[in-house]
Amino acid sequence: MSYFILMRLLNFFVTLLIISGFHLTSCTTVPVTGRPVLHLISSEQLATMAATQFAELKKQSRVSNNPKYTAMLERVGARIANVVGTSALHSTNANWEFVVFEDPDQINAFAMPGGKVAVYTGLFDVVQTDADLAIVVGHEIAHVVAGHGAERVTQQLLAAGGALALNYGTDDMNSAERQLIMIAYGATTTLGALLPYSRLHETEADEIGLIFSARAGYDPRVAVDFWKRMDAANEGKPPEFLSTHPADATRQHQLAHVMPLALQEYYNSKL
Ligand SMILES: [Zn+2]
Repeated sequence: MSYFILMRLLNFFVTLLIISGFHLTSCTTVPVTGRPVLHLISSEQLATMAATQFAELKKQSRVSNNPKYTAMLERVGARIANVVGTSALHSTNANWEFVVFEDPDQINAFAMPGGKVAVYTGLFDVVQTDADLAIVVGHEIAHVVAGHGAERVTQQLLAAGGALALNYGTDDMNSAERQLIMIAYGATTTLGALLPYSRLHETEADEIGLIFSARAGYDPRVAVDFWKRMDAANEGKPPEFLSTHPADATRQHQLAHVMPLALQEYYNSKL
């Protein structure tokens, strides 16, 4: 091992320590699934950055003024956010906001850290009832509550660590510099909106989301038919969509697995 590489490695770990210290590293677990995760960035900081990005997105995109869609999303979103609880990871400081974007060709939705949830008008081709929408909103809220954004940024930081250390050495970094690094390494693009979540995150969001929507009083059994209709409606869409979402058979298998617990939550919600 050359001295140069050794120095790079040392810098890498020192930089990681600095980042960790500044961002309140947390080793924690995802609610519902209990999967252990490492976060090198605090949910508060990520939420602040995401809020800015979401505000920008609202300026640049067309926010739907369809009163039916907007009311439906507000109603379902508030009801699910209400049962998530404030003790759950990454929802303590959630500032929930639910927005419908005008785009009839997009049968999709997304979430950003800090509680920003958006759906496109195209989704309402497939969504027929509040319970259908709850499947999607539950899934998006689950991404937020599970801290998937922070986990993605952590992965990026770890991956970029070597180059980052080379550029910045062990110098103390102020907040603006750290933000610059994040942007330089594309971490902000993974805040949750535009890049697809990994397959693991999708599966986990399906599972947690179904529990949340059931807990909010929406019948989880509609999910089976809903995802089939989603798959059918998305046929011929860009490969990005297909690659980020589990195949129908896989999804149905996972649904069957989580359904008993979801049904229990649903019945409890009616007591
Ligand atoms: Zn997702």
